Amino acid sequence: MPDQVGAASTAPLTSNSPRISDHRISDTPKSVLVIGAGFGGIASALRMRARGYNVTLIDRLDAIGGRAQVFERGGFRHDAGPTVITAPFLFDELFALFGERREDHVEFRALDPWYRFYFHTGEQFDYRPSIEDTNEEIRRFSPRDVTGYAKLLKVSKAIFDIGFVKLADKPFTKLTDMLAQIPSLLRLQSYHSVAGIVHKYIKHPLLRQAFSIHPLLVGGNPFSTTSIYSLIHYLERRWGVFFAMGGTGKLVAALDGLLRRSGVHVVLGQDIAQIDLDNGRAIGATTLAGQFYPADKVICNADPPHRVQSDATGACAPA
Ligand SMILES: Cc1cc2nc3c(=O)[nH]c(=O)nc-3n(C[C@H](O)[C@H](O)[C@H](O)COP(=O)(O)OP(=O)(O)OC[C@H]3O[C@@H](n4cnc5c(N)ncnc54)[C@H](O)[C@@H]3O)c2cc1C
Repeated sequence: MPDQVGAASTAPLTSNSPRISDHRISDTPKSVLVIGAGFGGIASALRMRARGYNVTLIDRLDAIGGRAQVFERGGFRHDAGPTVITAPFLFDELFALFGERREDHVEFRALDPWYRFYFHTGEQFDYRPSIEDTNEEIRRFSPRDVTGYAKLLKVSKAIFDIGFVKLADKPFTKLTDMLAQIPSLLRLQSYHSVAGIVHKYIKHPLLRQAFSIHPLLVGGNPFSTTSIYSLIHYLERRWGVFFAMGGTGKLVAALDGLLRRSGVHVVLGQDIAQIDLDNGRAIGATTLAGQFYPADKVICNADPPHRVQSDATGACAPA
């Protein structure tokens, strides 16, 4: 039988982390229930724990990681989801919250090339960390696309400055929050697709394919994914592209260790059926099996489309 949030394990936090004590909210810590143990839910749970809350992280699967599951077949271990890391500091921050160093638990190795493309023509294209090396590669296919690539990077930085720097950590809880962004989105031509923006600047058909791949990383279609996603071109240039040595599963295992050391209570194999509300305020969540998890705050990092759909009925039911 799963534990109740109120009975969550509260192993002492490490004393050498100034940020934990800075954020202690009261002598009697409040409780937080985080639904969904993918990277988003793990990060939320750790951040709330570092602020002094009693945290329970719950997932319907039997392992944490969400889309970053690992499976073994034919004697090999496979990452089922993400493989490349483009914003390593986001992981570093989580360990730093508890006075730890990410590199003591999992190694991130900078890749070169970032991506190697094998085209049906038999040609090969290396997309590399140095712009000069990448230009050299572009020149082999189409010299005029070197200037086009520089322009594409400039557009990507403009999108990054708004989409990542300004908006990535802002909540969009009201319609007006969204409406306020319309001028910026129009200015950035977000009504174009990723392929639409790439085709504007890159003319060689094979290079067009290479520079349009980013939506594929999340199962998106470059011809229909909004060009906001083109910010990844600049994101990669800003921090690089890394691989977690041992696979993404090694990173998930390192985060699992951090969750446990920091005292986050992890509950697996429990499917949340609904978030319970009292006068419009979340007071906990109930599993499909009828187990109620009371909490002062509920963070839902399950699949958003289903959650938003259900909000209209007054109860939030992640699907
Ligand atoms: C094939 C593939 C490749 C990718 N490659 C990359 C890459 O190389 N680099 C990169 O940065 N990103 C990549 N991504 C994207 C990245 O995987 C996701 O952005 C990220 O994992 C999302 O994390 P999340 O925590 O938001 O959601 P998820 O990982 O989806 O986690 C949501 C969790 O909620 C749980 N849940 C849902 N409903 C309930 C419920 N009712 N009750 C309890 N639990 C529930 C689910 O079981 C799941 O564990 C890739 C994605 C895919 C699919």
